[in-house]
Amino acid sequence: MPEIGEIQAHAERLEADWSGKTLTAFRPITFYVLKTFAPDPSIAHGQTLRSVTTRGKYLQLNFDEVTFLIHLMQGGRLRPDEKQTAKPRGGQARWTFDDGTALLLTEAGSDKRAGIWLFDNSTDIETVEPLSKLGPNADAIDPDLLAEILSDHSMRIHGLLRRQGIIAGLGRRLANDVCHHAKISPFATTSKLTTDQVGALHSAIGACIDTSLDFERSQTEIVASKKRPSAVHNKTGEPCPDCDDTIREVAYVKYSVNYCATCQTNGKVLADNTTSKFLK
Ligand SMILES: [Zn+2]
Repeated sequence: MPEIGEIQAHAERLEADWSGKTLTAFRPITFYVLKTFAPDPSIAHGQTLRSVTTRGKYLQLNFDEVTFLIHLMQGGRLRPDEKQTAKPRGGQARWTFDDGTALLLTEAGSDKRAGIWLFDNSTDIETVEPLSKLGPNADAIDPDLLAEILSDHSMRIHGLLRRQGIIAGLGRRLANDVCHHAKISPFATTSKLTTDQVGALHSAIGACIDTSLDFERSQTEIVASKKRPSAVHNKTGEPCPDCDDTIREVAYVKYSVNYCATCQTNGKVLADNTTSKFLK
């Protein structure tokens, strides 16, 4: 799933290419993609796109008086719609502009979970769902706040980093890389981290987001996840970039936690997927 770096760079590209255009039509293509019943989407017609911003893993299309909030989930993409066919493949919704161009939200795969929320700008969208459920953005957390968040929860660090209600914007890849960068076991208990470890974790969050953002800004769209730069994520069996030890995994049904034993667990090899259920 796109994480904070991918979404941020995507928002920057969308703003550069689309802001200043006036919406002539917004049309949901599937009946389930629009998650709000009011206001009626037609009130957005005639409004100009002013900016494109992000909150956690959400994109925000900010028009004069309304905001479209979009979550791409795993396979969603928001791209120029060159063909503008009646039934585009994977099409979820279309925004058409006064110069004849259009943006299309598509979603690949059968698991259709991408969503759009429409708000009147008199609403403080931070106070209503889905944004009211989010923790602070990962790139906006200072060391004191991070220390407070970690001590308030007794969780495995990898799990906490991915929990959007606690810290918004990180996913499996960044959680793996942040733990590696901080030289902390992904299964360390958050409330038991030392002050030094909390500091290392804070630096790692910033460094890994920066690395991700630098790469994404060099791209023209959200690329396949395997093309994204990563120290340990999905690198099982490959050498650790810091110490050359072999990167290992603890595999779950839907994903793997990757780590370097030398860098992160004092050489201790964690149980593999056949015996690791207790690590959940
Ligand atoms: Zn290592």
